[in-house]
Amino acid sequence: MEEITNQKTHVLVFPSPAQGHINPIVQFAKILASKGNKVTILTIDLVCKTMLLDCGPLINIECIQHEYKPFTSMDDFLEWFQCFMLEKFTSIIHKFANTEYPVKVLVIDSLITWIIDLAHELGLKVAAFHTQPVALSAIYYHIDHEDPSKIPFDGGSVVELPSIPLLENEDLPTFITESDAYPTIKRLVFGQNFNFKKADWLLFNSFDVLEKEVINWLRTQYKIKTIGPLVLSTYLDKVNGSSLIKPNYETCKNWLDSKEVGSVVYVSFGSLASLDEQQMEELASGLMMSDCYFLWVVRATEDNKLSEEFMSKAKEKALIVNWCPQLDVLDHPAVGCFFTHCGWNSTLEALSLGVPMICMPQWADQPPNSKYISDVWQVGIRVKAGRDGRITKEEVSSCIKEVMKGKKGVILKENAIKWKKLAREAVDEGGSSNKNIKEFIQDCNALN
Ligand code: UDP
Repeated sequence: MEEITNQKTHVLVFPSPAQGHINPIVQFAKILASKGNKVTILTIDLVCKTMLLDCGPLINIECIQHEYKPFTSMDDFLEWFQCFMLEKFTSIIHKFANTEYPVKVLVIDSLITWIIDLAHELGLKVAAFHTQPVALSAIYYHIDHEDPSKIPFDGGSVVELPSIPLLENEDLPTFITESDAYPTIKRLVFGQNFNFKKADWLLFNSFDVLEKEVINWLRTQYKIKTIGPLVLSTYLDKVNGSSLIKPNYETCKNWLDSKEVGSVVYVSFGSLASLDEQQMEELASGLMMSDCYFLWVVRATEDNKLSEEFMSKAKEKALIVNWCPQLDVLDHPAVGCFFTHCGWNSTLEALSLGVPMICMPQWADQPPNSKYISDVWQVGIRVKAGRDGRITKEEVSSCIKEVMKGKKGVILKENAIKWKKLAREAVDEGGSSNKNIKEFIQDCNALN
C-alpha cells in the first residue's frame, strides 16, 4: 500500500490477552504505523512476558506492570484483567495527554467493549476490531439481548438464519451449544454484540467476497468495515519488517526443504485448544496410518500426552515442535494440507496462502468456521466424530488420504488457489479491504 499521510494521529491499540487475538490486531497496528500514525500497543506485563508481541520497530508498547497471582481459570484471569485495566485506563490516557501526541483513537479487540464508555468519557473515538468472521457476529445478532438463555437455538433441529447456511447443532458456536462452560468468556462474547454498536467504527478481519451474503446482511444493521486478511497486508508485503522471533524457523524450514512439493500435512490446534489424552492418541495413530509426512505443533503443555513409543516411531515421518512460524510453514511448497482446529486466524492464513484444510473444530467460533470452510468456500473437509464424540484414527487417516491423494484434494486445491487470489485482490490497491483501511486512516487523521 502506498503512503497516505504523514499526519500523526496517536492510535492506542488494546488487544485481548490471547495469542490468537493479539496477532491480527498487531498486524493492523503495523499497517497504521506504516502509514505515519503514531501507534502504541497497550497490554500487561504477563502478555509481554508470555506471548509473542511481534510489533516491529515503529510501534511502542505500553506494558502495564501488575502483581502476579495464580489464576484458577481463563475466566478468573479475564475477570481480573477487566477490573485491573478499567482501574488503570484513565491514568494511562492522562499520561499521554501531556505529551506531543495525546491519544485520539482507541482500537480495541471487540471482546473489550467494557472500555468503550470510559474511553468516550475521556474524549477518545473507539474502533472495535473483530478477530472473528462476520458470520459469527451475524449468528450472535439473533441472541436475545435481554436474556441470552433465550437464544433461539434449541439444538434440536437445523437452525435457519438470514444469509447464513443452514446450521446443524455441530456447526453452532460452542458458547451457544455448551451453555455452562466458560461463563466469563461467554459474557464477553455475547456482550460484544450488545455493546459493540457503541463503538465509532466496527472493523472485521475478513473481506467482502469471502462472506459476501452475510456481510451484505449485517450491513443492513450496522456500518461495518472489512479490513482483512490483515495477514496478507503484513506477511506478504513485509510491512514494518517481519518477525525477528521465529520459533523453530530453521528446524522447520530445513525439514520442509527436504520434502517433496505437497507431501506434508501441517497439524496445529492453535494457542489454546487442548485435546484429551485419548484423542491425542487417536490423532497420533491416524497421522501415522495416513503414511504422509507431518509437521505437528504440540504445545509444551500438551506434549506429555504423547507416548515415548509414538515419539520414537514418528521420527521417520514427522517433525514435532512446540510452536512454529505458522505463516512460513503454510507458505512452504512442501505443505499439502493443514489439519486445523479452524481458529479464525488459522483459517484466514490457510485461505490467504492457498492451503486446503482438514477441519477438527474444538470450541468457540471454530465449528461455524469449519462449516464455511467445507460447505461454502469448499476448501476443506471436516472429520466426522463417532457417537462418543471422538475422532478415530481411521477417520483421521482417511480424511488425510482424501485430501492429499484423492480426487477431492485436487478440487479443494483449485478452490484454495481461487480464494488466495481473491484475498490478494481485497488487500491490493483498489481492493475492498485496502479501501476500507484507507478510509479508516483518513477518519483518524481528520481528528488531528
Ligand atoms: N501460530 C503460530 N505458530 C504455531 C501455532 C499457531 O504462529 O505453532 C499462530 C497462527 O499463525 C495464528 C495464531 O497462532 O495466527 C492462532 O490463532 P487462531 O485464531 O488460529 O487460533 P487460537 O490460538 O486463537 O485458538
